[in-house]
Amino acid sequence: MAEKCIYCGMDIEEEGVVRKIDGEEIKFCSQHCAVMFEGLEKKGRMKAAIMAERGEIISGLEDERGTRVITLIHRREPWEEKDESSISIEDTEHVLMRIRQTPGDKDVDLILHTPGGLVLAAEMIAMAVKNHPSKVSVIVPFYAMSGGTLIALAADEIIMEKDSVLGPVDPQLGGVPAGALISLLGKKPPENISDDNIMLSEEARKSLERVQKMVKWLLEDKMGKEKAENLAEFLTGGYTTHDTPIVFEVAKGFGLNVKQGMPRRVYDLFRTFEFGACPRPQYVKY
Ligand SMILES: [Zn+2]
Repeated sequence: MAEKCIYCGMDIEEEGVVRKIDGEEIKFCSQHCAVMFEGLEKKGRMKAAIMAERGEIISGLEDERGTRVITLIHRREPWEEKDESSISIEDTEHVLMRIRQTPGDKDVDLILHTPGGLVLAAEMIAMAVKNHPSKVSVIVPFYAMSGGTLIALAADEIIMEKDSVLGPVDPQLGGVPAGALISLLGKKPPENISDDNIMLSEEARKSLERVQKMVKWLLEDKMGKEKAENLAEFLTGGYTTHDTPIVFEVAKGFGLNVKQGMPRRVYDLFRTFEFGACPRPQYVKY
């Protein structure tokens, strides 16, 4: 494999351009990239170096598996103060672009590590995963909760460790599970429930129905209509708490196409992120 330029990530042809920066010899693809890199401040250089390393790991993984590798990883970036916390619309745009740029006959590996996030954002990614004509594998080295699980359900296969976890996909409204809001109406006479909560429980019902339909659609071509309906009802109905871990054996028992055999390079990739700092899965919105 050719050496990659630390600034632009392209292959370095022949000799490249070598510069001594901060006492270290660094190779670039061109004079242009050497000058641009030198002009960056310290954090910018750190970012360029890490992104180049990631690019190299990802292209190694692509060669090994013959796939296009896309990542959706929520973990603190070493050069940033703030946390990358949950699935956002920006993530959706990034992932959708990458899937659309992938030829229809090329398999996709989507590396997923997330506590969940915005419902619409996760739904859009799930649809794109399902609609890709070739095989899509979702790779979950640690956890993909909530909206992350929704995306995993769309894939042709889920590669996870024995103790990687998925979770229920019941929507949360204002931090409260949809199922709990709906059941409120049956527990108290309406005159004792605030208008706000009555309206919220109406929203909860709609949102639960919508996610349930989506899950059923994602699963029915893989396990048949009846099984898909039952699993969709279980995963969205709020029968367990929102942070209940669904490990490999349980996912298998559900009839999901889960496999073990995490590629080693996935862990090489995670080495390039900061540990800790992200909100824990139990805080997720969805
Ligand atoms: Zn370059």
